[in-house]
Amino acid sequence: MRLILGESLTSLLMNYSRSSATDTIITDIWEGGSVLYGWDLSKYCIDRAPIFLNPSCPHINKLRGLGIERFELIKFNINVVGTEEGFRSKFRGIDLGHTWIQQLVSGGYIPIGGWCSFYRRLRGCIAIRRVYGYIKFVDIDRKLVKISWLECLKYDELVSTLPLHYLLTKVTTGNEEVSKLIRGCISALSYVPTYIMTLIVKGGVDQDEVIMVGKKGFQTALIVRLRPDVVYPRISGKYSLIYVITPIDIEELRPEISSRVLGELRRLNVLEDLSSIVFLRDYFEKYSLISTKNEELLNNLIGTLGNYDIKLEGRLGRWCEASLCDLIGTYLK
Ligand SMILES: Cc1cc2nc3c(=O)[nH]c(=O)nc-3n(C[C@H](O)[C@H](O)[C@H](O)COP(=O)(O)OP(=O)(O)OC[C@H]3O[C@@H](n4cnc5c(N)ncnc54)[C@H](O)[C@@H]3O)c2cc1C
Repeated sequence: MRLILGESLTSLLMNYSRSSATDTIITDIWEGGSVLYGWDLSKYCIDRAPIFLNPSCPHINKLRGLGIERFELIKFNINVVGTEEGFRSKFRGIDLGHTWIQQLVSGGYIPIGGWCSFYRRLRGCIAIRRVYGYIKFVDIDRKLVKISWLECLKYDELVSTLPLHYLLTKVTTGNEEVSKLIRGCISALSYVPTYIMTLIVKGGVDQDEVIMVGKKGFQTALIVRLRPDVVYPRISGKYSLIYVITPIDIEELRPEISSRVLGELRRLNVLEDLSSIVFLRDYFEKYSLISTKNEELLNNLIGTLGNYDIKLEGRLGRWCEASLCDLIGTYLK
């Protein structure tokens, strides 16, 4: 049996041409784990983060076969509040050029209906059994995965698209050397979590805009202001769609973060007053930006887990920044 951890974009793309595979199970903690899942908005959905496909991606035509009829090209007016250096310093030394932030600032394609509509349609095409629940442990010696409410699932091959950092905290083995390697890898994997707020507010905008906030006293780093009717035809152009991205330490995450961010939006004149908000959702993207302090150790781990019939796939599974274009090119046959 082939057990896939994570109902990620990667696992869906990998299984697209195998629409029904009785020897495979996909398991995840919950249905909405992928960043592409989006927020429910009436009968539709809206993206949970501003996500753009590089316009020069050579694999765009593959997506047309997956039901995306039309893309909208978004180009931003870029404004910097404070300094660009101040903005970059908020991401604790990660080279932003290798992350999705570079793509975001450059703009790109969004399919009509957002990436969430695409992801949900793709998910609906794949008739592979799903099991949702909290993973208690992955026993790599006996090839067992324990899901909280279920008996253990026994696998022949395990494919993990879950964040590697998270997976490693679940792995158990009697092999002391492998345990040591796993402990070393956990401390070598670095990441920057972000708090992401999505708002729809009264009052339209003429031009899509990115504001990079590098001013002292502001926790917010990025504000993206979009004309929602361009991508989501059911939302009127009398509103704006706003994303606010704020890097945060896990220890700092407190309920007050939302009021702090709203206060900063008002100070930046992005939000007039709270009564103009008609939709607000927020969440914490733990593994928002990822990098490793020790590439060699990571490669060693990938090889070692391979000996246990475990494959690591996708951006989070392999712990290597990968764009939508990279994933489509690699996994969509
Ligand atoms: C905020 C953000 C913005 C992005 N913007 C762009 C962009 O503009 N352009 C672009 O090309 N790419 C962008 N990317 C990258 C792109 O979204 C990914 O390549 C794509 O989501 C697919 O990644 P994936 O298949 O590895 O995982 P996903 O499809 O995201 O699935 C992640 C899996 O990991 C699990 N998971 C997630 N968090 C946790 C956790 N804390 N604990 C346990 N399990 C967890 C989920 O349940 C799910 O199974 C962005 C990524 C992020 C996070």
